[in-house]
Amino acid sequence: TSFSEIDFCSGLSDNIKRCQFVKPTPIQRYAIPVAMAGRDLMACAQTGSGKTAAFCFPIITRILRDHHQLKSPTKKIDRNGGGGGFSLKTIMACPLALILAPTRELSCQIHDEAKKFSYKTGVKVVVAYGGAPIVQQFRNLEKGVDILVATPGRLVDMIERAKVSLKNVKYLALDEADRMLDMGFEPQVRKIVQQMEMPPAGVRQTMLFSATFPIEIQRLASDFLSNYIFLAA
Ligand code: AMP
Repeated sequence: TSFSEIDFCSGLSDNIKRCQFVKPTPIQRYAIPVAMAGRDLMACAQTGSGKTAAFCFPIITRILRDHHQLKSPTKKIDRNGGGGGFSLKTIMACPLALILAPTRELSCQIHDEAKKFSYKTGVKVVVAYGGAPIVQQFRNLEKGVDILVATPGRLVDMIERAKVSLKNVKYLALDEADRMLDMGFEPQVRKIVQQMEMPPAGVRQTMLFSATFPIEIQRLASDFLSNYIFLAA
């Protein structure tokens, strides 16, 4: 199989070619069709396995298909809280997708990749991580965000300051979930996911990636995922 056989939106297909990705890695081969079909999944994935693209390609595809209904690919989308972006009265960012990662380094790597994949599609990706001034990150959010990549502590801070609302999140990816728990982020992760339990966003698609599967991860999976597919190594 090659990426050209998969039914991505044209902007994403162009970007995949530009990144010189031709053949899916094993995790991509199995996870992408499952995620594109809208199913929840838990996948065993190590660093370097290509997991970033495995969750980014389906998220970008579904945002383009279901939410943007593209006018012109590079035109700014009118953002009013309802269809992604932020609400004008509160300047509260309302992303459609959230990618949680344990560290600043990983969140920045994911952000860099996701930006390449969404280049010229109109899908906006913003990153928020701890240990850096929050004000610049607020400014980035205020320009509009479809996909927010964040570390748990910083995101909780932003939610508490009413700068981010997760009410529109329809796609959630937890990357290196075992590391997030090892670093003590379980309370923050649970708090974040609680923010998404209340529709109007309706059904949320959740993808959990982890290198190991201790009981704590299995508990997270049974709490956060519904009717999920497990992709073992
Ligand atoms: P990741 O595991 O997502 O951090 O990806 C590891 C590296 O492999 C990154 O530099 C990706 O850009 C690259 N990569 C991911 N998928 C592919 C692919 N299908 N073909 C070529 N390179 C890839």
